[in-house]
This record gives sequence, C-alpha cells and structure tokens, in this order.
Amino acid sequence: MKFIDEFRRLELAQGLAGRIRQNSKRRARFMEFCGGHTVTILKHGIRQLLPPTIEMLSGPGCPVCVTDNADLDKAIALACIPGVILVTFGDMLKVPGSRSSLQKAKAEGADVRIVYSSLDALELARQNPDKKVVFLGIGFETTAPGIAASILQAEQEGLKNFYVLSLHKLCPPVIRALLDSGEVRLHGFILPGHVSAIIGSKAWEFLAKDYGIPGVVSGFEPLDVLQGVDMLVSQVENGESRVEIAYRRGVKPEGNLKAQELMYRVFEPCPARWRGIGEVPDSGLRLRPEFARFDAELVFSPDPGPTLEPKGCICGDILRGVKTPRDCCLFARVCTPENPVGPCMVSSEGSCAAYYLYGQDDE
Ligand code: SF4
Repeated sequence: MKFIDEFRRLELAQGLAGRIRQNSKRRARFMEFCGGHTVTILKHGIRQLLPPTIEMLSGPGCPVCVTDNADLDKAIALACIPGVILVTFGDMLKVPGSRSSLQKAKAEGADVRIVYSSLDALELARQNPDKKVVFLGIGFETTAPGIAASILQAEQEGLKNFYVLSLHKLCPPVIRALLDSGEVRLHGFILPGHVSAIIGSKAWEFLAKDYGIPGVVSGFEPLDVLQGVDMLVSQVENGESRVEIAYRRGVKPEGNLKAQELMYRVFEPCPARWRGIGEVPDSGLRLRPEFARFDAELVFSPDPGPTLEPKGCICGDILRGVKTPRDCCLFARVCTPENPVGPCMVSSEGSCAAYYLYGQDDE
C-alpha cells in the first residue's frame, strides 16, 4: 500500500538502526510527544533496535488522556440533561470521570452517540430538530479546523440546535510548560506529524531558540520514527539544535494556512487544564464571542460536581514523562483495556494501552 509498505521495509529499518547505533555516543533522552508515536515504537519493537545510550519517553500527546476529569465530568453532566444528544468520538466513551463515564451515563438512559466526524454530528442535529445536539470537541490542532468548519456550516444553515463543548488543546504551549517545569531533562523531541501538518514545523522553532533542544517532525510509520531518531542523534552528537522535518510528505514549514485561518476564525486561545500538568496559559481553544450561541458550556452551564481522581492511577505522571506505565501498581493487574482505571488505558493512543498491548516483553 502506497505510503505504508515503503515505510515499513525491514532492510531499511535495520540500516537506519545500525547507523543510529554507530553514531550514538552520548546519552540522550528523547520524548515522543504523540501517543501515535508511542504506539509505533512499541508495536514495531523500535526500542529494542536502539542503543542503550538512547532513552525514549512518552509525552502528553494523547487528547483523550490529557482531558482533565473536571472537563470530562462536565461532558457527562451535559449528557444527562433531558433533551440533549451528546455526540462524541468513540475513544471518550469508556474514560472514567470522577463518578461515572459517558458509557455508564448512556447505560443509565442518557442519549450518547458515537460519530466519526463533526459532520455526522451536524447531520444528527438536522435529523433531530426537537433535540439539542452537543458535540464533544476533543483533540489537538488536527481536529479543531474540522470542528470550526462544522460550526460555520451550522451558522450558514441557521441550525439552532447544534452546540460544541470545546475542550481542544494546543500542543506547543504544553511543551513549553513541561520544559519550564524542569521536571524532566530532555535532549530532543520527536514532534507530532499530524499536528504539524496543520501548524507547520515553524511553530516548534522555539524549542531550539529558547531551550537549545532539537526537534524532528516525524510521521507514524516505523521508518519515519527511526529517521526522526537518527536526525536527533546526529544533532545531539554535533552539539546542534534545530527543528527539522522527517515527514516531508505531510508537513511544510508554514503548515496548512487555510486550516489555521478556519480554526482561528471560530476559536481563540484560552487557558486549559491538562491532566497531570494543570492549567497552561493559551493552550486551549474557546469559541469566539461571535459564536457564543454554539458554546455548550455557556448555553447549558452544566454542573459537574466536585472532581475526584482515580485512586492509585499515575496517568498524570506518565503524561509528564516522569513515570512509565510499569511504575503503576495497577498496570495489567487491576487496570486493563477491558477494565480501565485511567484514561491512558482507554485511548488507542494511550501509553498504558500501548504498553499493555505491545510492550509486555519490552525492556
Ligand atoms: Fe492509570 Fe491504569 Fe495507567 Fe495505572 S495503568 S496509570 S491506573 S491508566
């Protein structure tokens, strides 16, 4: 299959891994920001190919995992309002909030439906004029432009029963927050390909300029990730720090300007809460005042009650890169994909789920 098979070729992977082993002399700790990269690394045994000088850490790049319990509780409270259809991507359904989950709320009678895009949510609003359709806006810069487009479409059609609970997050500010905390010392970032397709590699240049840390934007196939690590090793060994692209088939330095324009026409940056990290300035997206009538939080003022965290779950530490799933005493014993205690075991991009599915023999 084009753009897949050629990025999984064993002989090329072995060649790249051999070059990394040969070139890597200094100890270096790299963070793969995105959960999609964590899955690729574990699924394809990339850690076993790397030399002991290189340590790979998972970062906070899973939108489901970083959604704070207080925000998730808000979504559950919205789902429980009579006459509301709460519409979400499937990954959110099983994530446990403080006292319930969307799945439990659904089992107890709430109208919660799964869609594959915000356009499906619009169609539900058209088909159910007597209901209020609330779309749960979860995701990074990759998903926000599509949701912005659906709001513009709803406005154009004069749809009066379509709303969005915007829990979107922006990636560069949270990387800044991680680095400013000084909690983890990093020597390089494997940067997210899909997010960078929208914001461009230029959006990451602060890593090199302000922190002297190199970054490489990578795709999600094994050869993409190995190439990214190879480019990071080369910079580390030469004492350089630049932001480079190892995913030229998907990413341009300036990104997708149309998508950016769409996103910022409808949304504006705001502070956002990240699980395990806390509130980060300008790392969220809220609807601009002229689109306030689509804002589910303003329109319905949901009351989520007090926030509780899952006992024993260390998802927050894992998302900050200070612990790994194996440090959690619940991992694979109490917490499994069938019975998840925290979000990192639910999401297809969650570190705990990736370790559980692909990393049991790792290390
Ligand atoms: Fe949380 Fe489960 Fe991961 Fe432990 S294994 S950190 S309980 S999601």
